[in-house]
Amino acid sequence: MECGGTTSEAQATAFRCVQCGIPIKTLYVQYSPGNIRLMKCENCKAVADEYIECEIMILIIDLILHKPKAYRHLFYNMFSKETLNHEGLLWKSILGFLILDAYGTLVLSTYERESNANVTSLLWDFGKMFAGVFFRNLVFFCVMFLGARKFLNSPAGLYGCKDILLGILVSSYFKIFLVATMVWDFPSSVIFIIDLFVISSNTVALEVITYSEMIRCLAVCIMAHSVKFMVGQGLSNYPLKLVM
Ligand SMILES: [Zn+2]
Repeated sequence: MECGGTTSEAQATAFRCVQCGIPIKTLYVQYSPGNIRLMKCENCKAVADEYIECEIMILIIDLILHKPKAYRHLFYNMFSKETLNHEGLLWKSILGFLILDAYGTLVLSTYERESNANVTSLLWDFGKMFAGVFFRNLVFFCVMFLGARKFLNSPAGLYGCKDILLGILVSSYFKIFLVATMVWDFPSSVIFIIDLFVISSNTVALEVITYSEMIRCLAVCIMAHSVKFMVGQGLSNYPLKLVM
């Protein structure tokens, strides 16, 4: 008989009940292959994580619907703690996030200029913007960390900067829809709609990670995204005029 995710003492409290968020030792007990029993949470008496038996599509739909329990499953129960702490995953997430953010900025600037841009100028613009995107996201995450520390709950040892960083990166998955603009033509308003979804998704992620009220998390997210937007506007006005 095996217990879900109890391979080491350090992992013992790595899982969370998706309903109430309380740390839990085991999510399920496996009697034989394909024969498992889901554990109940001692705090809320509900099944600790029903997503273990669900199809991945159910999880994706619940993530899109911004259900906090789906985010808890994704952050705490879906992967082992070793995988989440893997530096490679973090760096790949950061790189993917920056590339998608730079691409979104490039698409917007193309809409604004409506120029007869060729491939060379697009690549040059992309490199230039990538540097700007890196800087403004650095500011964005600094504001997010400081805002979380100042205005949100910070129970000792429950979460750190790395948890917030990974939570924000993962919950920005709506940016992947920017890839669709490579294939189809969309109005520029689609970029802003994607940004709105990213802000709301970041808010749920912060709410789940910090156990804070939704309205406070929303305020921190809006503040961080506003600063990022203003820094982006400042950067795009300054160097573009020098180069053009
Ligand atoms: Zn519970």
